[in-house]
Amino acid sequence: MKTAYIALGSNLGDRAKNLRTARERMETRELHVARVSSVYETEPRGFTEQPWFLNQVVEVETSLMPRQLLGRLLKIEREMGRRRDVPNGPRLIDLDILLYGDLTVDAAGLQVPHPRMTERRFVLEPLAELAPDLRHPGSRHTVREMLAAVRDQTLRGAEKQV
Ligand code: AMP
Repeated sequence: MKTAYIALGSNLGDRAKNLRTARERMETRELHVARVSSVYETEPRGFTEQPWFLNQVVEVETSLMPRQLLGRLLKIEREMGRRRDVPNGPRLIDLDILLYGDLTVDAAGLQVPHPRMTERRFVLEPLAELAPDLRHPGSRHTVREMLAAVRDQTLRGAEKQV
């Protein structure tokens, strides 16, 4: 079993319910959601004319290899009705693999650690709740250190959801 961290985001419909549904659908024999962060409300970045997001990070235990794990997450996105018409646009659910053990993957369809995780407070803040001392396999910086560098970004309300 490997420990991995997955970021969840939603800014359409019943956002809290979308996060919950995605967490429930992850749960199988090969994938177990072990711990969950608080839920944060965050301003959209990039394409800003869209609703605010709810974001959360979960810690999973999995026997799936990284590509299989990505396949599982993309299937959940598809089943939940995600459409990819506007890049960085509104989405019912977005699931990203942030970290997978201490592994680095650099392939066309999959990069781990997630290349943009180091710039995003909405990822680092919930991740720091779960694993502040975890190190980025590339830079070797801890999550706590990476978070200190993005503290200027807006983040609203933290609420624990189980
Ligand atoms: P997005 O539309 O921004 O959610 O991008 C999803 C696509 O990014 C997927 O089809 C994956 O092939 C690719 N991708 C690359 N690295 C990752 C990762 N670490 N986690 C999730 N998706 C990834």
